[in-house]
Amino acid sequence: MENGIYNFYAGPAVLPKEVLAEARDELLNFGGTGMSVLEISHRAKPFEALVEEAEANIKELLSLGEEHRVLFLQGGASLQFSMLPLNFLREGETADYVLTGSWSEKALQEARKIGATHVAASGADGKYREIPSSFQWSDAPAYVHLTSNNTIFGTQWREFPDIGAIPLCADMSSDIMCRPIPARRFSLIYAGAQKNLGPAGVTIVIAKKEFLAKAAPVPYAMLAYATHAEAASLYNTPPSFSIYLVNLVTRWLKREGGLAAIEQRNIAKAKWIYDAIDGSGGFYRGHAASNSRSLMNITFTIQNAALEKTFNSQAEKEGLIGLKGHRSVGGLRASTYNALPPAAAEALAGFMAEFQKKNG
Ligand code: PMP
Repeated sequence: MENGIYNFYAGPAVLPKEVLAEARDELLNFGGTGMSVLEISHRAKPFEALVEEAEANIKELLSLGEEHRVLFLQGGASLQFSMLPLNFLREGETADYVLTGSWSEKALQEARKIGATHVAASGADGKYREIPSSFQWSDAPAYVHLTSNNTIFGTQWREFPDIGAIPLCADMSSDIMCRPIPARRFSLIYAGAQKNLGPAGVTIVIAKKEFLAKAAPVPYAMLAYATHAEAASLYNTPPSFSIYLVNLVTRWLKREGGLAAIEQRNIAKAKWIYDAIDGSGGFYRGHAASNSRSLMNITFTIQNAALEKTFNSQAEKEGLIGLKGHRSVGGLRASTYNALPPAAAEALAGFMAEFQKKNG
């Protein structure tokens, strides 16, 4: 426990301490330039090299090759809700959306302003406890959009649907790089960095070159993927410090053994907390159905809801920070992103058992 706390915030969220220390150590002198990375031109060679390295590391971690590009954009994952349909949903076409929570609803809302959409499956009736397993795709959709991990409801896709040649696109904001995935199957992946990859301010877009080449003409330069792809993410001033930190996080992920190793650690962390819920005899109740439980956001309530406030304030006193559920659904939520140390999950499980003993 460093600084006496464990950070369970849903985002911005915990970063690897090692990475923060590295950034601190070279804050005044980036790569021997005698300047801070905060002061350096985005057109300077060392910064261009950094962007190239970050792109290469992301592709390596996801086992992607020449056929994919990585872009570093601004506007958060929320801007991607609009950019994706602006670039890929033409008149006369339909885009299919799978609804698994509030963020996929928001993505759909934006797409509806731009073109025709179809909901291929929705978990709304089941309070988004479960990832749908049957889908009704429209005929030849322009693309299919899904949200790989639902930050608010605490559900996560286990396997992605096989839709053949139809472009598969995903918002992976809250579980990017938490486990190996068949990234090659995706035409476009986007993720705000501020949960698993770095600080707020940069959004990672990973896209197939072939898909990018099929984009519709977009009259606004900043909203066209082509602008950013052609300029290697340096069309305008990028969020340079955020990209710098993302690069350090990708180096850290590689040192930790890559995504297979990270997944094992994430499974072990989540198990501590899910076991505490399942072993509580109903005192704690998980929101997600067991086949859809997230490795990254563990959502639960206390049977006697009046105890949730006390739980949270006592947890804070023990240094367990950020356990309040999202304001739209209430309850409790433990976010267990890559950088959360396993000891934090163990500490939370211990606290849950103690709390139950005193209040059960
Ligand atoms: N999608 C998901 C799955 C999220 O969790 C979030 C943020 N919590 C967003 C989109 C919105 O991201 P941003 O704040 O970067 O726009």
